[in-house]
Parts: sequence; C-alpha cells; structure tokens
Amino acid sequence: MVYASQVISSAPLADDAALQKSAEQAVGKGGAKAGLTAEGIPVYRDSISGGEVYDAGFRNFLTMCWLQGKGKVEGEEGQYKVVVLRQEAEQNRVLTVKMAGDGASMKDKSDCLDGAFQAGWVKNEGSVVHSTQLAQWLDPAAIASSAVDLNIKLIKWRLVPELVPENIQGLKFLMLGSGTLGCSIARNLLGWGVRHITFLDSGVVNYSNPVRQSLFTHSDAKLKRPKAVAAAERARDVMPDLQGDVVELEIPMPGHPHSYKQENVDRLKQLIAEHDVVCMLTDSRESRWLPSLLVAEATMDSKGKGKTGPLAVTVALGFDSFVVMTHSCGSAKRACYFCNDVSAPTDSIKERTLDKQCTVVRPGVSGWSAAVAVELVASLSQHPDRWEAKPKAGESILGEVPDQIRGYLSNYRLAPMETEPFAHCVCCSQSIMETYRRDGNDFLKRVMENNSILEEVSGLNGMKQKVDDAIGDLELDEEDEDLCLL
Ligand SMILES: [Zn+2]
Repeated sequence: MVYASQVISSAPLADDAALQKSAEQAVGKGGAKAGLTAEGIPVYRDSISGGEVYDAGFRNFLTMCWLQGKGKVEGEEGQYKVVVLRQEAEQNRVLTVKMAGDGASMKDKSDCLDGAFQAGWVKNEGSVVHSTQLAQWLDPAAIASSAVDLNIKLIKWRLVPELVPENIQGLKFLMLGSGTLGCSIARNLLGWGVRHITFLDSGVVNYSNPVRQSLFTHSDAKLKRPKAVAAAERARDVMPDLQGDVVELEIPMPGHPHSYKQENVDRLKQLIAEHDVVCMLTDSRESRWLPSLLVAEATMDSKGKGKTGPLAVTVALGFDSFVVMTHSCGSAKRACYFCNDVSAPTDSIKERTLDKQCTVVRPGVSGWSAAVAVELVASLSQHPDRWEAKPKAGESILGEVPDQIRGYLSNYRLAPMETEPFAHCVCCSQSIMETYRRDGNDFLKRVMENNSILEEVSGLNGMKQKVDDAIGDLELDEEDEDLCLL
C-alpha cells in the first residue's frame, strides 16, 4: 500500500477556543498520544515544540485517520481535518491534510488496524515521501535476516565487488545425513545466508552426539529427538527465516536387502530433482551409493553425455584426514565417490560397536572439512561455468575450483586436485547407468540383495581378471622382482 499526504492548511488552534477545549478533553491530562473530540475530529499530541514539522508518530496517526475515515472533510475529496496539541498552547495547530493512496492494493485493512501496520517514510522513484510497511523493520526475525544479508554485502562492498550473493544464497541444499557433517555444513551455509536447507536422516540424537554435532543439545539427546527434526529446528533458532525442511528416511544400501523400500527410492529421486546441491554426508560408504547413482543419472543423458543437474558434493572423513569432492555435472567430468574403488560397497556397519554408527575421527576434522566443502560450493557458485567449472577453466572470483580437496590434519595440509571418472566405476560408469536405465528398480533391488553384481555389471571383474592374467604372463627375473617391490 502506498499513500501520500500533504498539509494544505495550517492555522493556530487558539483561533477556535471551543475546539481547543474539546481537543484537550479528547486526549485528557494523562497524556494520551491521540484521541477524538466529541465532534469526531482526530487530535494528536505532538512532541515537537513548534513550527510546521511533526514528530515521527504523526505519520502513523494520519495513516490511521485515513484508513478509518476519521476527520474526513465533507465534500472535499481526500481531505482530513486534525488537531495538533503541543506543550505550549500557542503552538497548537488545526490542519487540513490531503491524503491520497492506493488503498485497493492493501491485502487486509484489518491487519493494519491491529497494529501490524506501521507507517514511515521511504523515497520512491520521484523522490516523494510516502508511507510503507515498517513492521518488516520492527520484527526481530526480519532484522536478523537483513543483518545476515548485510554480512555478505559487506564482503561485496569492501572486498569482492563482483560477488553475486544471490548465486549461493538462493540455492537449495539437500543434506543426506544430518549428523556431524550435516550440522557443520548447515552452520556454514547459514553464514552465507542460505535460506533453503532440507535435512534428511533416519536416526535420533544420542548422548554422544551434541559435543560433535553442532546443532544438537543435551536435551535433544534426552528426548531422543529425530536428528533431521532437531537439526532443522536448531538451525531455525540460529536463523529464523530459514526454510528448514525435514525428511525422515532410510537410504536403501547395497548389501542391505531390508533397507530397500520403493517409496524411499522414489522420494530420494524427487528430492534430488528439487534441489540445487546434494550433500552426501552419511556415515557409511554404502549409503552414498544410491544417491550418487541418482545424481549421476540426473546429470548424464542416455548417450553418456553430461547434462545440467544438481551438484553432488561428497565429504568423507578419516581419523585425521578428509576428502571433499564434487561429482560430474554437465560437461564437467569428475570422479565420483566410488570411482577410486576396486570393489563394490559392502556392509561396513555390521562390525561397528560402541555408539552405533559414530565415526572415530579427530574432532576438528569434521568442522574443517565442512568449511572447505561449503567454500568450494561458494566458489563454484560464482564461477561463470557454475557446476560445470573444471579447474582448467580458470578461477572464480573467490579462487580456485578443484574437483577434489584432500585435507591432512597431521601436517595441516590441503591438497586440491583434478579428477576423471573411472570407466569401470561401480556407481557412475556408463555400463551401470545403462543397466539402471534399462532395468530400473529391478536393478536396484538386485544390487540391494547382492552388491557383488556391481563388479560384474561395471566390468570391474573383467578388468581385475585382465590384470591378474597380465601379471601371470610376466616372467620376472630377480632384478625385476626387486623393482616391483618398490
Ligand atoms: Zn564413479
């Protein structure tokens, strides 16, 4: 809603003794800010001592008169008569104010009259002052939201003028896993002002979690709250205007027949299609296989050519090391999480003891790797080739865009690198893709029941056999054997 007001006449109130008296009665001696005379004329108690300027509340007062039709001058379009009282009686004024506005665009007048509406001045295109909704500036959540954006704008204004904050802030992130890595990555994304994060997990918060999983508290563990629910809620505590969606779902895994549920596969597929960045953050290798396959399918056409789709980011931890990698997307061909494997993902959870699936790593590794992952996505978001940027395509305005970064805490070293997909990968290779496209869910079911078929389908078995045959054919003399040992 927009309206403009203009004082068209102003006279001393002392000229009308009767009105002066009824105006004083309307606000009383107690000091009401505004009132209505017995004749229906609005009265305003101004804090300015004199002259033709009025305090900030006067604008709200005029707006209320206009919205409620109080003080309307009969026969004069848009004119309102109001009285202004001041500390010194000789400074009291009677004003006629002309108001015009676009009341029709207001969604709900009653909301305004309930106090959700606050009038104020803003500059419009013609440099004419008019009213605006001030509620957005008075709401703590709205203030927090703009303060977060200001953080990012300061980077742009002071250091990187070419930065386009919307390129990262507008992204939708899917967190596959809302534990140690999910919490840390979400916290870093909030720092960039990202507003849309979907938290997926099937577990609950355990007592050992809060010290490492930065969005949880002891009370979450006491109540055994679902991780995805608690993570979204705590993230909203940090940034109230975050759209933190929750998905409680167990990801089907190769070698875990009971984990296969068709509706979960379908939901996962749908979620991947709905998000810009898919973060693989679960705590087992095999739970990353299906999402990696689905992203590979979404970013590769039936001829094996890349097509634009979501960016998959994998973060994996060792005791004192980590790897952050981006998967293939469009024309950018990269190694996926399984490209370095020479066997199909097996059941890695079976032998776990202690606190179920808690990963045994140095505590600083998760925070470090999460920060690197988020900053890599930030850099890619600013690159002209976006998710398809390869290291050779040059830096983004935030720096290099490696395909993969390995970090080593033992010597505080980061190693950025370029990667290529493996032709016999058990997840993203052409033959796996073709089989999945041909057999669909039947293929997935077979893999969940018997993960070793991945080695067959991908051609990994054939390749291993060739290597064995080649070694067998070699006739090594003693000198060559020494060389092999090196
Ligand atoms: Zn791969």
